[in-house]
Amino acid sequence: MKDDNCIFCKLANGVIPTTTLYEDDSYRVIFDANPATEGHVLILPKEHYANLTELPDEIASGVMPLAGKIGKAMLSGLGAKGFNVVQNNGEAAGQTVHHFHTHIIPRYGTEKEMVLWKPNEVSAEKLSETCEKLRKAL
Ligand code: AMP
Ligand code: ZN
Repeated sequence: MKDDNCIFCKLANGVIPTTTLYEDDSYRVIFDANPATEGHVLILPKEHYANLTELPDEIASGVMPLAGKIGKAMLSGLGAKGFNVVQNNGEAAGQTVHHFHTHIIPRYGTEKEMVLWKPNEVSAEKLSETCEKLRKAL
């Protein structure tokens, strides 16, 4: 399914032309319009899924191998020293375009901290309470 109002549906399916790093029947990999670093790309499924909770297993299972291949190319082809694989789900998590996508961000060792959170402490009691809630919902 495509969504006529979705910019990533249009980019993924070539309705809006864009520089394409990789394409097959299921995915297109494009360059982020506002890259975090040089070579920052997005893996887009060609079908419209709002986020990871909607993604069929056969599409989800293709994303990590592709991310790994692209990451390897960033190391050898761009001289990156590492890379981040980032995937946001929901506005609270920073998702701004509601068509599933995975960021691959090359890291050159010169950037300030990215993909950062503040580590907190947690009690054993609170942890088992959280685990129980989550397990029930699985
Ligand atoms: P997220 O915050 O995970 O939803 O990321 C959305 C990403 O899409 C951002 O990094 C934007 O810079 C990028 N983006 C938005 N519009 C376009 C576009 N037309 N072409 C390429 N990248 C885009
Ligand atoms: Zn879409």
